[in-house]
Amino acid sequence: MIGVARNYDVAVIGAGIAGASVAAELAESCSVVLLEQEDQPGYHTTGRSAAVYAPIYGPQPIRALTRASLAFFQASTMGFGKDALLSQIDACFVARPDQSSSLEAMQNELVDVKTVQRISAKELRSRVPLLRDGYASGAIWDSGCSKIDVAAMHQGYLRHFKNEGGSIVLKARVLGLARSRSRWSINTTLGEVTADIVVNAAGAWADQVGEMAGAEHIGLVPKRRTALIVDAPMGIDLSALPFVVDVEEQFYLKPDAGKLLISPANEDPEPPSDVRPDEMDIAICIDRIERAFNISVRRIEARWAGLRSFVADKCPVVGLSRKVEGFYWLAGQGGYGIQSAPSLAQLAAAEVLTRPIPAHILKEGLDPATIRPQRQGIGK
Ligand SMILES: Cc1cc2nc3c(=O)[nH]c(=O)nc-3n(C[C@H](O)[C@H](O)[C@H](O)COP(=O)(O)OP(=O)(O)OC[C@H]3O[C@@H](n4cnc5c(N)ncnc54)[C@H](O)[C@@H]3O)c2cc1C
Repeated sequence: MIGVARNYDVAVIGAGIAGASVAAELAESCSVVLLEQEDQPGYHTTGRSAAVYAPIYGPQPIRALTRASLAFFQASTMGFGKDALLSQIDACFVARPDQSSSLEAMQNELVDVKTVQRISAKELRSRVPLLRDGYASGAIWDSGCSKIDVAAMHQGYLRHFKNEGGSIVLKARVLGLARSRSRWSINTTLGEVTADIVVNAAGAWADQVGEMAGAEHIGLVPKRRTALIVDAPMGIDLSALPFVVDVEEQFYLKPDAGKLLISPANEDPEPPSDVRPDEMDIAICIDRIERAFNISVRRIEARWAGLRSFVADKCPVVGLSRKVEGFYWLAGQGGYGIQSAPSLAQLAAAEVLTRPIPAHILKEGLDPATIRPQRQGIGK
């Protein structure tokens, strides 16, 4: 392998947010190599997110992990300045009259969440004048959300990793994994390294990497989600605009550096790839946004798609393989992998180092059985 040592305690495959964060945690205690197939870390899903921290979003284990990540986001650790990564934005889940049962269901589910309140159509009109008159019959308002500076977070983790002596190797696609005498030989496009433990943080490719190791198949399905950047209408105060989401997640709109980020919130299955937006995604997105808001999209400034990778129950897959020794899964973060990355990295690093799961994560109500690769109902 060019320019780095050959033998490590841990090899992490994938330098997106999952791999970068766990590598940074691990490098404080052992020797770690971070292997990335692209020439820039974060090129795939991590660099294509909507950058929202929403603790009411996702299945229960994700919510617990997201709450448990807040302390990291707010604290001054790993060289991140205090409160450097989050900035406040309210979220608003809007419902048309025909979606009132979905609004009821959401309200009932969130009844104990203190940041959440139901608001009337009239109140919604005054808070979000960009919505078309008569479009929505009510909304759930959440003041517990934030915007995440994903680039600063990702770069900060990578910086800490390097400062702690970690080695990152770009353009090193893992091609094969073989275990003998309790060590992995990892064959890459740039040569071979060995490690006691492999952490599989390969995002949409995680099942493929699992297969190379002879590990279980977790049934990971990458799903394409498309996003566009468009101009905001003249005269709109973007600082007062919340993150607006359809209550059934059919679209969302978020103020983004003086423009609007819009998405049809699609979930289209795709093989792992450098995914691009489909023309149909774009047309559906514009149609849904123009129906809901006083917006007429004339020009698309940027368009992209990314793969959100899920297993059947939409919970992440985290823990040692039940089939092969020394192979640790950190996959299936779906649409929540940025907001939950800090606690997932702390949990995964603790387990790789055979330490107990940090108490603050369990205190948020995470049941570790709900994220294990051997749980019922996923893979085969
Ligand atoms: C449009 C969109 C909006 C989103 N919005 C949010 C949001 O608001 N909040 C949130 O929390 N999450 C959001 N997400 C989800 C979030 O982006 C993902 O959960 C997260 O980025 C996954 O990180 P990862 O490190 O697992 O994957 P990736 O970033 O894809 O990293 C995996 C890496 O593994 C590398 N790799 C794969 N195979 C190999 C191999 N064989 N050898 C070497 N390297 C390999 C890849 O090149 C890649 O760099 C969104 C996603 C999308 C697409």
